[in-house]
Amino acid sequence: MSFPVRHTAKSRLSETDFNHLPFGRIFSDHMFQADFNGQHWINAGIRPYAPLELQPSSAVIHYGQSVFEGMKVYRSAEGELLLFRPIENFKRMRNSSIRLSMPLVPEDIFMNGIMELIKVDANWVPSGDGKSLYIRPVYFATDPLIGVHPSELYTFLVITSPTGAYYTSELKVRIEKTYSRASRSGTGYAKAAGNYAGALYPTQLAQQAGYNQVIWTDAATNTKVEESGTMNLMFVINNVLVTPSLSPSKLAGITRDSIIEIARHWGYPVEERDVFVDEVVAGLRDGSVTEAFGTGTAANIAPISVIGHEGEDFTLPIPTVESFSTKALNFLDGIKTGRIADPFGWVVKI
Ligand SMILES: *Cc1c(COP(=O)(O)O)cnc(C)c1O
Repeated sequence: MSFPVRHTAKSRLSETDFNHLPFGRIFSDHMFQADFNGQHWINAGIRPYAPLELQPSSAVIHYGQSVFEGMKVYRSAEGELLLFRPIENFKRMRNSSIRLSMPLVPEDIFMNGIMELIKVDANWVPSGDGKSLYIRPVYFATDPLIGVHPSELYTFLVITSPTGAYYTSELKVRIEKTYSRASRSGTGYAKAAGNYAGALYPTQLAQQAGYNQVIWTDAATNTKVEESGTMNLMFVINNVLVTPSLSPSKLAGITRDSIIEIARHWGYPVEERDVFVDEVVAGLRDGSVTEAFGTGTAANIAPISVIGHEGEDFTLPIPTVESFSTKALNFLDGIKTGRIADPFGWVVKI
């Protein structure tokens, strides 16, 4: 399917400084929108990025019935536009929307909406230096009534934002044992808006204490590490890649899955299992934890330099060219940007 395009009267491209791209602040000229009227998908098309009109009673504003996705398109050295595993984002948004009682966005609208939008805003895809165009699909309830119920009306939007590297400085994280991101039976596995609102306060407390992010622990016992901020979490312990196994309280990251696949492809030992706070702290103390890093689309791989636990800070070795995280980042980034041949069939050319 191809969608009608309404072009902007005045492009902002020439006034955008592609050498200074703070994450998530600059948006391309156009967006994709499709609405669900309770029965059908209507109004699907590309239009100028602009404020929306919403009723003050819109369901999403009151009860947060909203899910989102995040993916990136890269420009290869040959100038091709490359998407990374977009079908996985589609599947995940479907799972997220089921958990929030939302009708499924058709695959055609999700995939082709994104593809067509990128074609229209192709000049917004930066090149080089880990730069990319971040793609943000978001899907939310618009019923104009404030009873608590699944909405009948919805809007699906895709906006895009040119971006450079996510974490530019060192990453200090603190193991969080008071507040939780998600419970075993909650919405943690969904990319649901409310999960992120609830994470802000504990993160702010960690930032006031001098950290960038928290490491979330399980809500039931606070003894197992789960994720870090909005990234999945991995360690290298005695030369084994160790990562918390997936569960309903964790977001199944596409980057996480890709790094596990890469490690297996290399014959590097991988363990997906419970990872206990005590084990991590002991391993930081005796040096058997040699690497810790977050994984996610926005950051790719973000090496952690300091882990705080109950007032004590543990400093990790600075990654070298030999570190797993360095090699994995280089390989993953190479595949995403077309610099390295993709052995997995992950990359989709636009
Ligand atoms: C999006 C997200 C991730 C990373 O997922 P990717 O598919 O790798 O981008 C990890 N944890 C949380 C909580 C997230 O929202």
